[in-house]
Amino acid sequence: MRVSQLWSWLYVRGATDFAGMTDITKELRVTLAEAFTLARPSIVTEQVSVDGTRKWLLRLDDGKEIETVYIPEADRGTLCISSQVGCTLACSFCHTGTQRLVRNLTPGEIVGQIMLARDQIGDWPGATPADARGLPDADRKITNVVLMGMGEPLYNFEQVRDACAIAADGEGLSISKRRITLSTSGVVPEIPRWGAEAGTMLAISLHAVRDDLRDTLVPINKKWPIADLLDACRAYPGLSNAKRITFEYVMLKGLNDSIADAKDLVRLLAHIPAKINLIPFNPWPGAPYECSDWEQIEKFAEVVNRAGYASPVRSPRGRDIMAACGQLKSESVKLRASARQASAAAE
Ligand code: SAH
Ligand code: SF4
Repeated sequence: MRVSQLWSWLYVRGATDFAGMTDITKELRVTLAEAFTLARPSIVTEQVSVDGTRKWLLRLDDGKEIETVYIPEADRGTLCISSQVGCTLACSFCHTGTQRLVRNLTPGEIVGQIMLARDQIGDWPGATPADARGLPDADRKITNVVLMGMGEPLYNFEQVRDACAIAADGEGLSISKRRITLSTSGVVPEIPRWGAEAGTMLAISLHAVRDDLRDTLVPINKKWPIADLLDACRAYPGLSNAKRITFEYVMLKGLNDSIADAKDLVRLLAHIPAKINLIPFNPWPGAPYECSDWEQIEKFAEVVNRAGYASPVRSPRGRDIMAACGQLKSESVKLRASARQASAAAE
């Protein structure tokens, strides 16, 4: 009984201290407060885009920093959360990949991003948002969670799995596994295990239809090439037309955006229940690529549409605050890098 009371204070009501838990004895509240904290990660900056997208730079207990992004739409809201500080992989088009891995996030830090976002947008029963700009007109402001922030979630398997179990619990945050999507660059051996132990929706960062090109864009492909990746996808549990895998495909000018590529993409995914998400490349300072021309994206999308995939282009959100896909990189590292430059310049 105590556990379910506490669970409800934590995850249904969003309590931030033990003192206010009125149905729990004072003695126990004191004991809990001595041993545990309900503090959220602290906010270093909060930015609100002209389109209502919010990006938080958060500081963890040890001073490391991560980013979390909230993307509101008319009738739903998606929270994009990080799984690691930085990333060990170095996809050549991704800003996060230029930041070396500092460490894995704990389940508390992963769920903490959801808790903090709900605090900030007033998404607890009876709460009102401090800034209502762009929020959806729905009871729940966060309806979906995507593990598409910083880090490769399958390289932090257990902690991300435990965080998803907490987020999905029907007596708590109640974000069903059908509304949680894990995105992976293709850590093939962990995909069946994720299906068995977590069973959320899956997204694959495909980005190329040939191994030679994917090797350069998503270097993990050298270890687990496209054919192995798609075999793992085919075997993912519970796939059906209602439960499809999302294939993410970043549009890079002159590299992977030809009509022949579009046709190959459709052929490659032919027997997998799939959604295709074309992501216009989001530039970042020093990026070695350009986004495909809009006309070319439309032509590419038309081939994909004709094959039966609905509106596959993901509109870039929050670009003005560097919150769009692949733009995340924590300020601390950027500052350290600029401090290094400054000291190099001084030498
Ligand atoms: N590491 C995981 C999850 C985080 S990345 C993964 O790679 O899947 C979330 C998505 O943004 C991935 O599909 C990634 O390939 C894509 N992405 C990275 N950099 C991007 C950029 N500059 N523009 C557009 N999408 C990008
Ligand atoms: Fe890491 Fe994903 Fe970025 Fe690749 S795309 S560097 S796996 S965060």
